[in-house]
Amino acid sequence: MQTLQERVRELILDVPNFPIEGIIFKDILPLFRNSELVKELVLEMSSELRTHNPSALVAMESRGFLLGMPLALELNIPFICIRKKGKLPGEVIGTSYSLEYGNAEIEIQKNALASADRVILHDDVLATGGTANAAAQLIQSTGAELVAFSFLMELNFLQGREIIGLNNAAIHTFAKF
Ligand code: AMP
Repeated sequence: MQTLQERVRELILDVPNFPIEGIIFKDILPLFRNSELVKELVLEMSSELRTHNPSALVAMESRGFLLGMPLALELNIPFICIRKKGKLPGEVIGTSYSLEYGNAEIEIQKNALASADRVILHDDVLATGGTANAAAQLIQSTGAELVAFSFLMELNFLQGREIIGLNNAAIHTFAKF
């Protein structure tokens, strides 16, 4: 009998040289074609996240939204989006961070979190950790407490864990590659 982790890993496909030469893109969309498996996955991931007694889940645009929303529903807490600059209406706060080539900017709505919030940050992939680290700093700049990172998968060889580990929050990654 296969474990849940084995069944999930089988439905995460490697796509070589996408979106650019040299990158092995992890395609998670095949996983979402299996609704029973996604339900099991959400139950399993949320049971670990619940131990942090979170009051909000913040998800990263865009693939972080896919599991972020059902996780927030299962945890019975608000679902909040971090998006690329210029996508969110109303008052926002933002931060910029460097990518391998150039810069990226992300934003969150100003009134989305309160300083008493205990926040989980969710994304699909932990790669170099640059994106999650910038998002963690954005969350902390609102005064809220980041209690845990949640990722569907971690690319171990990129050592993103070391960068985000400096934020003093737990790190949950369901599948490791
Ligand atoms: P990083 O900032 O390097 O940790 O990259 C994390 C972000 O880039 C996540 O939002 C992922 O969706 C995306 N990402 C990075 N590497 C991959 C990959 N190999 N396959 C799919 N998505 C990736």
